[in-house]
Amino acid sequence: MSEQNSEQAVETPALDRFECRACGYVYEPEKGDDSHNIEAGTLFAELPITWRCPVCTAKKTAFANIGPAGTASGFKENLGYGFGVNTLTPGQKNLLIFGALALGFLFFISLYGLQ
Ligand SMILES: [Zn+2]
Repeated sequence: MSEQNSEQAVETPALDRFECRACGYVYEPEKGDDSHNIEAGTLFAELPITWRCPVCTAKKTAFANIGPAGTASGFKENLGYGFGVNTLTPGQKNLLIFGALALGFLFFISLYGLQ
């Protein structure tokens, strides 16, 4: 989607960095990618579709937007990359944990009630 916007995005040349969710490599537009002859200043969206992570050769779709350098850490776009295990928010994880505990507790109570 950002590919469509790249030409008309004049107001803020957002140099969003992208992190490889497979190995943690961060593509920084300010630096480009020497190993693929990507010039400095090339936006991630402008990278060729054949571009791969220089470290682990993951595809572009394995990368997550982590925002421009210098901003607070955290994913700008958490969803839409559905590539792995770490897509759950802490809240969702808590829900899972407490849900499992509650289920176990109910199970225990029901067993106890049968006796
Ligand atoms: Zn990688």
